[in-house]
Amino acid sequence: MRKNRFEKAKNKRLGIARERIAMLLDMAEKRALAGEMDLANRYALLARKIGMRYNLPMPKGFNLRFCRRCLKYLVPARNARFRTSSGRLSRQCLECGAVYRMPLKPRSS
Ligand SMILES: [Zn+2]
Repeated sequence: MRKNRFEKAKNKRLGIARERIAMLLDMAEKRALAGEMDLANRYALLARKIGMRYNLPMPKGFNLRFCRRCLKYLVPARNARFRTSSGRLSRQCLECGAVYRMPLKPRSS
């Protein structure tokens, strides 16, 4: 009985954490588009912290929106460069210059 009760509380906490992450990333995106990168970075950092605390993965697509070196929120064309070459996607953080490369999955069709 006890375990069950705690599991329920845990699930509830995780749900709230996910909600907060989604909200913070949404706000970060809006701030970033408004050109307020300081606020965007702040919101993104908070979202990341919550995610790490509860061991939650970033929502789809957002794992590419962080620089792993300087932890800044990356906005394509503003402070990040996305390029494809020879089947790979390379992404450069224009804040600190870090470059990340990953293979693009071949389309199955
Ligand atoms: Zn960086």
